[in-house]
Amino acid sequence: MSQLEKQKTTLPCPKCSKDIELSYYDMFSRKEAKCRRCGSLYKFNSSDASNLRSRIRDYEKAQDKFGEAIQKIVKGADITIKK
Ligand SMILES: [Zn+2]
Repeated sequence: MSQLEKQKTTLPCPKCSKDIELSYYDMFSRKEAKCRRCGSLYKFNSSDASNLRSRIRDYEKAQDKFGEAIQKIVKGADITIKK
């Protein structure tokens, strides 16, 4: 599981307002968020869940490319060393 997938978020319980804590991974894999106090729940739409999963992948790919771009610009620099 990636860092972003492990990241926690909270949603307010639709009934009692208690914070429901879940990871982004839980969001798209379990497709629900359940309140531990009163049992009310959010049920997520399957296509929204797979959309979230692919947007997470895209985001991570973009982060990798960003890291590569930073390395590339430094590697490709013309170095001038002053005497
Ligand atoms: Zn609740």
